[in-house]
Amino acid sequence: MFDTIIIGSGPTGMAAAIYASRRMMKALVISKNIGGQVIWASDIKNYPGIEFTTGVDLINKIRQQVKDLGVEIKTDEVKKINKNNDDSFLIETGKNSYLAKTIIIAMGLVPKQLNLANENELTGRGISYCANCDGPLFKEKNVAVAGGGNAALDAAEVMSKIAAKVYLIYRNSQFKAFESLVAAVKDKSNVEIILSSEISKIIGKEKLEKIRVISNISQEERELNIDGLFIEIGHEPKTDVVANLVERDTLGQVIVDLSGKTSCDGIFAAGDVTPSEFKQIIIGCGQGATAALSAYKYLQLKK
Ligand SMILES: Cc1cc2nc3c(=O)[nH]c(=O)nc-3n(C[C@H](O)[C@H](O)[C@H](O)COP(=O)(O)OP(=O)(O)OC[C@H]3O[C@@H](n4cnc5c(N)ncnc54)[C@H](O)[C@@H]3O)c2cc1C
Repeated sequence: MFDTIIIGSGPTGMAAAIYASRRMMKALVISKNIGGQVIWASDIKNYPGIEFTTGVDLINKIRQQVKDLGVEIKTDEVKKINKNNDDSFLIETGKNSYLAKTIIIAMGLVPKQLNLANENELTGRGISYCANCDGPLFKEKNVAVAGGGNAALDAAEVMSKIAAKVYLIYRNSQFKAFESLVAAVKDKSNVEIILSSEISKIIGKEKLEKIRVISNISQEERELNIDGLFIEIGHEPKTDVVANLVERDTLGQVIVDLSGKTSCDGIFAAGDVTPSEFKQIIIGCGQGATAALSAYKYLQLKK
């Protein structure tokens, strides 16, 4: 029986693990991957005390800290959670099941998908959700970027320096990004901007070969031969696994109070998975620490 099981090992879950161990709680972290979104951040310049680091470096340091404090991190996916009659929780991953007195949900966000046929099959075979991570694989190739916000414009700008040709495809008629970024992209001779258009089909067998793009105005379709497609249309929470236990908002974010308490006694949540307006590493760390201290207090009061 663990005092707390933390779901997710992004900065939020890691901070919760550190604070739980400092309170001598028997804690376990279960996470699909190590580090969450931070591993995609190529340069981090807004963490106090650290002028510059990469996401991978930061997470490696935090991971070591968590390990040194004696908290185990299991790489696995939580698939089912049930509340038992004695108020404990049964957490199942498919491979294993665990019992915990409290749960800290730090499940963060995942990249939004276009939800087109072939998208999952060709992810990692031409389709990527992170230009900063996978961009260098497409040197001198033709690529497309889907999206019109800062992430998409940034991806187009990054790829214009790596790829031979970049198509930037956005469904609206105007970008929703910083003007300076839009101007920088418009300035690139190898970027072709295709507005008011959507990707209608992803084509390829072993790897991505082409996409079909349809104009929302004329309904005309064109086919683009590309090696890479970067889908940069934002991030969303995936919280179905806790849907039967805690209250969520319309976006699927887990609703919490200021102490990280959810609508279910014994379950706390923190970081990007909650409706907090600003989603940043330091904010996740603060909320993760708060959730762990609240879980500790909850157990103390139950004694
Ligand atoms: C490209 C990029 C660059 C960024 N740069 C910065 C920056 O410079 N500075 C900054 O402050 N912020 C930056 N951010 C934002 C920052 O990364 C996030 O705010 C932060 O990672 C949120 O942490 P989190 O732990 O709440 O969630 P996440 O980092 O999303 O971690 C969630 C974890 O939960 C796991 N998980 C989810 N569901 C399950 C399940 N069912 N079972 C087991 N595990 C599960 C995931 O695998 C993951 O490990 C950046 C984000 C991106 C995408």
